[in-house]
Amino acid sequence: MNIVLFGPPGAGKGTQATKLAENFDFVHLSTGDIFRRNIKAKNELGKLASSFIDKGELVPDKVTISMLEEEAEKHPDTKGIIFDGFPRTIEQAEALDLFLANHYGSKIDKMLSLEVDDEELIKRLVERGKTSGRSDDADPAIIRNRIVEYNKKTAPLKQFYINQGKCFEIEGVGSVDEIFARLAAEVAV
Ligand code: AMP
Repeated sequence: MNIVLFGPPGAGKGTQATKLAENFDFVHLSTGDIFRRNIKAKNELGKLASSFIDKGELVPDKVTISMLEEEAEKHPDTKGIIFDGFPRTIEQAEALDLFLANHYGSKIDKMLSLEVDDEELIKRLVERGKTSGRSDDADPAIIRNRIVEYNKKTAPLKQFYINQGKCFEIEGVGSVDEIFARLAAEVAV
């Protein structure tokens, strides 16, 4: 079972992906988390990634795709993967389909799209910025740019999954547990 957890910055993907992975015993792959680990390690990938992340821009597809594939290859026996923050472009989604088919003989089963309006997103991101320690949460101009990037490059991906009959919209407003229950019901089907 392979699930893409989809939604704009601040939709709650990280929180919910962590809970889903624990609950269903799936692997949780978050490209944002992997980039942040490399930034902390101060390695070449980290330096490259932060030059984009700090501006609220997407990291180039080539770098992101090879990093994700390398990480996914570490879990050949898992019964499921929750992809969080990946794919974010059509090119990434096509690469992911190819990768899953070639390496696992599998596919994306569902794309769960967390629906949250822009006003609520900005409120949450500003709030998160007070404690997350993430530089890209701290500056309103960068938050706005992440939402612009999302609308331009990532939102069109929804249609990619709708066309395949894999997109399920989930109301992303409410308590963490309420939203989790809605997502878990869809994963369990
Ligand atoms: P996130 O933790 O998912 O909000 O990601 C933080 C930042 O990492 C994003 O704003 C992007 O700059 C970068 N990033 C994470 N995932 C991707 C991806 N799939 N493609 C390109 N950039 C990404």
